[in-house]
Amino acid sequence: MDSLDQKLGCGILVQSLEDKMNHLVKKPSRIHGTGIFTERQISDRETFYEIPLSKVFNKPLPRCARIATNLWVSDEEVLNYVNHSCNPNSELSTLIDASSTPCLFSLRPILAGEEITVDYNRTEGPDAIRIKCECQSENCRGYLLRRE
Ligand SMILES: [Zn+2]
Repeated sequence: MDSLDQKLGCGILVQSLEDKMNHLVKKPSRIHGTGIFTERQISDRETFYEIPLSKVFNKPLPRCARIATNLWVSDEEVLNYVNHSCNPNSELSTLIDASSTPCLFSLRPILAGEEITVDYNRTEGPDAIRIKCECQSENCRGYLLRRE
């Protein structure tokens, strides 16, 4: 799948929804609080989690992520627990239309047991504030964007 396909949506998923969800688990994170970890290896540029459209809202909710102008997702199953990293292994698709759903896809191969991370700064909008980042990656910017 090339990057344009990724930006336009999740494309065709090769696994059932149940299989996709099964490998993601909540565990204590070294970055912050509880994180999401994969129990299986994920390939480069793989769509590994699709977010149900029932979890897309036209106003921000606590712990939600912004995916487009005036669209947010709040997903207590997985997404709300994905921590920020300035050197993330995954990204949240940010463009949706009637035929596509938001998803998480990998930016590189991810090993079984790794924590899933995304760059919050790529999805937050102008209403966000800067808070201190403690992601511990080598290229940490020192801040991340969050809504108050
Ligand atoms: Zn950082």
